[in-house]
Amino acid sequence: MQRYFVSLDKLNNIVFNQQDVFHITKVMRCRINDHIEVVINNDAFEAVIDSLSPLKIHLIGEKMRNNELKNNLVLFSPLLKSDKNELVIQKATELGVTKIVFFISSRSIIRLFQKDFDKKLDRYKLIVKEASEQCHRNMIPEIVGLLSLKEIAAHKANINLLAYEEENGKQNTIYKAFKSNSSISFIYGPEGGFDKKEIELLGSMGFSLVSLGKRILRAETASFYGLSIISSLMEEKNE
Ligand code: SAM
Repeated sequence: MQRYFVSLDKLNNIVFNQQDVFHITKVMRCRINDHIEVVINNDAFEAVIDSLSPLKIHLIGEKMRNNELKNNLVLFSPLLKSDKNELVIQKATELGVTKIVFFISSRSIIRLFQKDFDKKLDRYKLIVKEASEQCHRNMIPEIVGLLSLKEIAAHKANINLLAYEEENGKQNTIYKAFKSNSSISFIYGPEGGFDKKEIELLGSMGFSLVSLGKRILRAETASFYGLSIISSLMEEKNE
């Protein structure tokens, strides 16, 4: 069943945004009495369509299962080449992140000014909304950027993990550094990796080095690999 994020007006009426009205009535061609899911203030409900123009629904049953991870998961992501950023945003959303923070690092191939990043932000916000609806999240992750490495400190978690390929194959893995019931952040480097000064800076900011295994992963693969482990550990430890 398709899920939509809605809001309430001052009279507690459910309000859809225009793109969603179009999606429900023209793309999905829903009819009266069709069922959809809506998320109101992070709670999900099943609903029945009462009228299409204007679009009106009524909720049925209790709140649905909450699909969020029990703790916040923050991804610090370098700006990557071409549309890899969009793929990272989509997969990070499916893996349960609550915030994606884009940062600039010395070896990033892409150099963007804030105004150029702001132009991309609208598209990134649409991708994160659509991914949240598709995977039935109870919230839409926040996207922050474009920050320097120093500025990301404001978004750190209780446990902050830095994926570093020079540690590859050593003992310090995500499993070892993971603490259940903690908020976690995960940072990985761009196509050119982090330079030694950046590794030292992040170490001084409280990031712990972790290995993602013996092979050198592409940047985007590192984000999926790291988030998958953390997300599955969070799911398991909180069952
Ligand atoms: N030094 C790499 C190389 O020789 O190609 C360039 C960096 S790698 C493409 C991009 C990022 O993925 C790294 O900065 C690191 O954060 C992460 N990464 C890749 N493989 C890793 C591994 N085996 N262990 C930890 N992090 C890894």
